Amino acid sequence: MPEPRTRRSGSRKDTSEAGGHHRVRPARLEALAKAIPGPAPWARLAACRDTPGVDFFVEAVRNRVDMHETIKRAKEVCEGCSVRLSCLEAGLREPFGIWGGLTVRERRKLRRSRQEAA
Ligand code: SF4
Repeated sequence: MPEPRTRRSGSRKDTSEAGGHHRVRPARLEALAKAIPGPAPWARLAACRDTPGVDFFVEAVRNRVDMHETIKRAKEVCEGCSVRLSCLEAGLREPFGIWGGLTVRERRKLRRSRQEAA
């Protein structure tokens, strides 16, 4: 699962105070901040927010046995998640991670079956 999308504050260097060359006017910063999407409302209810020991980006796991265990643990969390369907719709085209309790391959299969049914 997806780490619910959040704004990362402080991730960019503030060049205005650091004496950098790129001064950005406050109005422009405000406009930029509005353009950055915040977390989807459903993401606040995501069960995976409270499971720090479970990895939902399973592609990072190199060992095959460990990957199967990681997928299993992530799916167990998703099973009890109240926003599973919203998560699945949001992550249907995401190329990595567990979304809505499905792996990349499973989501691809779901997309194909939907296309065939349409
Ligand atoms: S369905 Fe799984 S990945 Fe999606 S929000 Fe819920 S716990 Fe997280």
